[in-house]
Amino acid sequence: MTADNQEMDNDELLFFADDEELVGSDGPELEKWRILIVDDDHEIHAVTQLALNGLTIFDRDIAFLHAYSADEAKELLQHEQDIAIVLLDVVMENDDAGLQLARYIRDDLKQDEVRIILRTGQPGYAPEEQVIKDYDINDYKTKTELTRNRLVTSIITAVRSYHQIRMLNQSRRGLEMIIKSSANLMEHHAMKGFAEGVLTQLASVLGVEPEGVLCARRGQFSSEEDTPDNSIYVLGAAGDFAPFVNQPLQDLPSQHIANLVESCLNEKAHQYEQDDTALFIASSDYEAAIYIDSARPLAQIDRNLLEVFLGNIGVGYENVSLFQRLQHAAYTDELTRLPNRAGFIQCLDGFITTAGKDQVVALVDLNQFSDINDGLGQEAGNQLLKAVAERLSQTLGESCTVARVSSDVFGIIGSEQIVTPDRLLSVFNHPFHAGEHMLPIKAAMGFCCQPQASGRGLDLLKQVYIALNLAKKNLSEKYAYYEQSLETSTSDRLNMIRSLRHDFSERRLQVWYQPQLSLANLKVSGMEALLRWPDGEGGYISPAVFIPLAEYSGLIVDIGAWVLEESLRQLKELQEQGFEELTVGVNVSMQQFRSVGFLDSVINTLAQLEMAPACLELEITESVVMDDPAVVIDTLGKLRAAGVKVSIDDFGTGFSSLSYLQQLPLDRIKIDRAFVTAVDDAQGAIIAETIVALGKKLKLTTVCEGVETEAQAAHMRQIGCDEAQGFLYARPMPFADLVNFLSKP
Ligand code: C2E
Ligand code: CA
Ligand code: CA
Repeated sequence: MTADNQEMDNDELLFFADDEELVGSDGPELEKWRILIVDDDHEIHAVTQLALNGLTIFDRDIAFLHAYSADEAKELLQHEQDIAIVLLDVVMENDDAGLQLARYIRDDLKQDEVRIILRTGQPGYAPEEQVIKDYDINDYKTKTELTRNRLVTSIITAVRSYHQIRMLNQSRRGLEMIIKSSANLMEHHAMKGFAEGVLTQLASVLGVEPEGVLCARRGQFSSEEDTPDNSIYVLGAAGDFAPFVNQPLQDLPSQHIANLVESCLNEKAHQYEQDDTALFIASSDYEAAIYIDSARPLAQIDRNLLEVFLGNIGVGYENVSLFQRLQHAAYTDELTRLPNRAGFIQCLDGFITTAGKDQVVALVDLNQFSDINDGLGQEAGNQLLKAVAERLSQTLGESCTVARVSSDVFGIIGSEQIVTPDRLLSVFNHPFHAGEHMLPIKAAMGFCCQPQASGRGLDLLKQVYIALNLAKKNLSEKYAYYEQSLETSTSDRLNMIRSLRHDFSERRLQVWYQPQLSLANLKVSGMEALLRWPDGEGGYISPAVFIPLAEYSGLIVDIGAWVLEESLRQLKELQEQGFEELTVGVNVSMQQFRSVGFLDSVINTLAQLEMAPACLELEITESVVMDDPAVVIDTLGKLRAAGVKVSIDDFGTGFSSLSYLQQLPLDRIKIDRAFVTAVDDAQGAIIAETIVALGKKLKLTTVCEGVETEAQAAHMRQIGCDEAQGFLYARPMPFADLVNFLSKP
């Protein structure tokens, strides 16, 4: 197919995949998409405006802002919010004024939602790929390329991704707010934060802007029982309603809304109206009503989803202690009572800005921990970890933070005088008590000093890991300090891509399999195909490292096609050996969806191997869906019509809008490992439970991932999860081992 053809294909696709279906079409007056044109050529402003004249996207019109130099644009961007797209000329005051402005938008203004489209008059001039990545540039066009059609296509794509980024950020903010406000839920300010959180979260569930109030009768919150004030107040609000917090319900600008809330509380029932919805929430202690501007009549399926959401999480929200425990579970390691990885990252978040100049972060990785765990049993392993945690805390003292970052890695924050290699190494001079054993243990350490640190918590953690990995490879020293020069440079990455391409063409990649079992009877129902890249020294390079590179370079399209073929071929072999009922799950990346012919290649591969489509399950993540919902939903619909099964992977980590979920043609939900691990704390299980309940409502099979303990398995079984996958049952294994595994009685 020629480049021209491909372009046309895309055009058609975009206009065919009309976004109107994704958002209610009879909503109220919506705000306009604001597009900022930055160009020193006045004519370009006029031409652009003319070309986009009358265009509406998601039912919203377009409004233009104009700047005629990068400086003017800077000025404007400081004051104007909610700009969806910047159409940016590269060459203005100087050769790269546009690029500097892009840098300014991302790095100085920290605006990461706005989409940037670069334009230049000079054909042949293109910014480096790195620039496009670093400043998250959406599109790059020379002005001669900008026919009306292409400009419109480019704008629609950018608006769509702007909209999705906003939605995602919104639901994430909602959840953060809920967690933050949970500790003092009943206090005035905490209630306000909590209510805003609930409203934001609900709005994103429905895929609308957060506009609404949470109301309750005052009396139930006041401590003076003898003078109960029975009138209804606004306890929290979002959007245009924000000024009404703490005001009586009757002060709301709309009598209609006030009436709706009142009937909701009086009748103790949800009220669904044309454009408005009032939801009733109640626990043993208190009742409240949430009004939300749903902007459209809610379909039955929306209502079901909302009720699941309220039933499982909503009621839980009211329970202060539940949230404290949730938060505790989210940030604390059960075994050692130290902060866990998430807790440590939180501590690191403000490290660069708030820590004194002499602060240092360290990671301590125990050697041969898994041998001890396997050899002496998990109980001894646990006791060892506790003993190490205790001795670290004692040696370092109260001024330092000690955390458990992963199974055998501890994280430390403290002053350079205290957190030194010598002191940390001295912790391991004596053996540790673990039950009846005395275990001599050594460790490797990575350090990062404050001046070398950059970025927020997670980035910083990665930096210390780079030092730690260096220390582990180092034979003479057991520790290393982070320096920027240690980062994998672009050229390293390119080398890695090159060797991946080489090894792939030499057929050195392997597909391994991890069995999935029915929780009811522990029978193997299928397996997930997982890619393995041997490093040539007996080990394997982690998919977490090379899959992103394969995606970045586009190699994933060919590799993915091969994984699909290889796993179907081997499944056929299994069928011929009598294992007839098995299915195979294959991971699919966005790049594959985007590639022309993906649909055909799946269907052809099945046909060539004479395999029933129903034995193949494609696994996609929420981020794949959110990347381009219209395209993904369309392709999945066709695949499913052909009989192929579809599952959503790592579910729950993306907090994607449920309104997308219900449109997705799906068979299964795979619950992310994070939520399965969280069930260890009885209260932390609420998210897993919600997902299972949601799955049931939508008539989908649920599979939990990363099951490592019997307790987790028992819990997931009890809440009604159908299948499980995890180290408890089997690790990913080569095909030959899988055959043995399946043959075992
Ligand atoms: P994923 O799809 O979420 O795969 C599950 C990952 O969880 C696998 O990691 C598996 O080894 C690991 N896992 C399974 N049970 C447990 C457990 O009980 N505890 C723990 N801690 N981990 C468990 P793996 O093989 O390293 O793969 C990582 C990711 O790489 C996959 O995550 C998937 O996103 C990607 N990937 C792997 N193979 C392919 C492929 O063929 N194509 C594409 N596009 N992506 C792939
Ligand atoms: Ca997967
Ligand atoms: Ca997964």
